[in-house]
Amino acid sequence: MEYLKELNDPQRAAASHLEGPMMVIAGAGSGKTRVLTYRIAHLIDNGVDPFNILALTFTNKAAKEMKERIANMIGGHEARNIWMGTFHSIFARILRSEYDKIGYPSNFTIYDTQDSKSLLKTIIKEMGLDDKLYKTNIVYGRISSAKNNLISPQAYLKNVEIVSEDQSNARPKMGDIYLEYAKRCYRAGAMDFDDLLFITNVLLKKHPDVLLKYQEKFKYILVDEYQDTNYSQYLIVKRLAARYENLCVVGDDAQSIYAFRGANIQNILNFKRDYPDYKLYKLEQNYRSTQTIVDAANSIIDNNRDQIKKDVWTSNPEGDKIRVVRTYSDNEEGKFVANDIFESKNNLQASDNDFAILYRTNAQSRSMEEALRKLNIPYKIYGGLSFYQRKEIKDLLAYFRLAANPKDEEAFKRIVNYPKRGIGNTTIDKLTIGANNAGASLWNAACNPAEFGVQLSSGVFNKLQQFTLMMKSFASKLDNTKAFELADEIAKVSGIYKELYADKTPEGVARYENIQELLNGIQEFTDNESTDEKIVTLPDFLIDVALLTDADNESEEDKDKVTLMTIHSAKGLEFPYVYIVGLEENLFPSQLSISTRSELEEERRLFYVAVTRAEKKCTLSYATSRYRWGQLSQCEPSRFIEEIDSRFLDTSLTNQEKSPMHLGDDDFDFGGFNGGQKKKQPTYLDKYKNQSQKYSKKSSSTGTSAPSKPNFGVPKNLKKVSGTTKA
Ligand code: ATP
Ligand code: MG
Repeated sequence: MEYLKELNDPQRAAASHLEGPMMVIAGAGSGKTRVLTYRIAHLIDNGVDPFNILALTFTNKAAKEMKERIANMIGGHEARNIWMGTFHSIFARILRSEYDKIGYPSNFTIYDTQDSKSLLKTIIKEMGLDDKLYKTNIVYGRISSAKNNLISPQAYLKNVEIVSEDQSNARPKMGDIYLEYAKRCYRAGAMDFDDLLFITNVLLKKHPDVLLKYQEKFKYILVDEYQDTNYSQYLIVKRLAARYENLCVVGDDAQSIYAFRGANIQNILNFKRDYPDYKLYKLEQNYRSTQTIVDAANSIIDNNRDQIKKDVWTSNPEGDKIRVVRTYSDNEEGKFVANDIFESKNNLQASDNDFAILYRTNAQSRSMEEALRKLNIPYKIYGGLSFYQRKEIKDLLAYFRLAANPKDEEAFKRIVNYPKRGIGNTTIDKLTIGANNAGASLWNAACNPAEFGVQLSSGVFNKLQQFTLMMKSFASKLDNTKAFELADEIAKVSGIYKELYADKTPEGVARYENIQELLNGIQEFTDNESTDEKIVTLPDFLIDVALLTDADNESEEDKDKVTLMTIHSAKGLEFPYVYIVGLEENLFPSQLSISTRSELEEERRLFYVAVTRAEKKCTLSYATSRYRWGQLSQCEPSRFIEEIDSRFLDTSLTNQEKSPMHLGDDDFDFGGFNGGQKKKQPTYLDKYKNQSQKYSKKSSSTGTSAPSKPNFGVPKNLKKVSGTTKA
């Protein structure tokens, strides 16, 4: 157990805790994730079967890295048997094997945000509601929030408080939409992301035998980033841990940044109530950052009233002050950052992946990207349109989905007339009405239109029949054809391949190549995951793909690049040099989050998370004007800058007449320095290639992840009622 020497005393105490509930609450960079990792190794070293360990992480990438680390520590192949991944991926896997208990097809579809919103749009239209009042984002957010608080549609409709809030917002039909949405998802054999947790709760509650099985299986449960679990996740963990109470949670209340998605800090406070005998471990030494960064971060979080007080210190060197940089526009801000990275790379002998640019909203990446490109600095960007969100990829995946689950309504609508086969919207509308009247799926109506009272011309009827026969033939091959073989057949027989091949525009060629890349990825997945006993089928691939996050999409080539991401997705990560850009009032803190103390405190925690990602140097920047929503607006520096104790700031770049980095375009002609060589910029293909990596290890078959979701506002009332309504 040499490895325990790599921990300080309190860390070691926590990592060698073997039985019973425990909690680590500690500031950023103090080694919480490290303790979790070492504790798993230690458990296995002490004879715990890896199959009995469940570890829940924030991304699947984090899970994968943790497994590798553990494998190195304990040697052998034991680590691969640990159940490790995000809540969504782990419980999707469990639901898939318990499908019969919950009345879903084994190949249930996982609707992504786009599918969910498209279905909501349809429902709002069908119900004849005003879509300006019932905006899909708002409706989706409200339903999501209800689910994460385990409020079923029936309970929603009966909850006086919620109903009156909807009424006062002039959206009295919200509950009816929720009910219809839930029915339609069920009829389509589909779950949205929140359902994966909601239905897991239902499963564990209604089936004591299933609960017992998983309680026995997961004798040891560990949760990282516990501060960001929502009520639904909290309850799953509570149920599973109830028998053995070997539960270890680690987190930092100061880094709770997902309240908009239902995360509830109450879960940390409840721990004491749920497990009165729990042991609390405190870690206070920060190993990540310089003294200046640690002290500055402490001075930021001091402004929050709601917090568990902590002493965080470090024995690292004092380091540079935090630079504050003022520029005149967002473009100039981009130029400053790119130029600074360019110079630092040379002066500090740093590599590209030592740098990260963090921002509040995705839209801010544009000016950064432009400037980085001009200097030929390679970068990777998280949260853009990922490979799997591209139209051609979604089209082909929809064929796979419909073959696996013919009830999948969104997939059906997407491809019934793509490539064009003469089945128009009128036909689909007729089928939808027929299906809705009978409470059946679109697919059923399409197979037997007459039975559902749908009159079609014989021409259309024949086309429809050709389509359903083709899909049935795919479906008949699902179970005993390797994923790649069937995928390839579908791409050809469906006509997608031909359709894209015919398009010789550069975009068309790129789309064709993307399809080929997808198939390559499936081939690798098939090869890597197949064993002598089991072939990998298309449904196996689908469930894996549905839960990928951006972070899981990183390729080998992406490794040495500057990282651009939102602060939300930077949680748990660290970089030597961090730039936090757009520190302006109404942008950060966000305009939408300054009307109450609790909202503002969440924004401040976000700022705390951002600053504590930095190891050596942190730079804050703001522009005095910026284009937002197509208009040039004047900006004030963020209040957060002022909140940092000025001893830790270097403000020499804020008070000059002319912005220090006011570079002309000529300044970007670095052709002379790098021989004019153009470095390859990341493409979607590059991103995707990384799949090969992901699939290259057996242990990564658990490797799927919580999908990123947009930042929608969460209705306040739904948070309040948490814990009062049962599933
Ligand atoms: P966050 O709150 O941001 O998630 P954390 O508390 O999980 O941070 P870790 O990521 O586990 O912190 O650790 C921060 C850094 O400090 C890592 O690079 C880790 O390897 C290093 N570290 C932690 N403890 C020690 C130690 N005892 N000796 C050397 N390095 C350490
Ligand atoms: Mg961590």
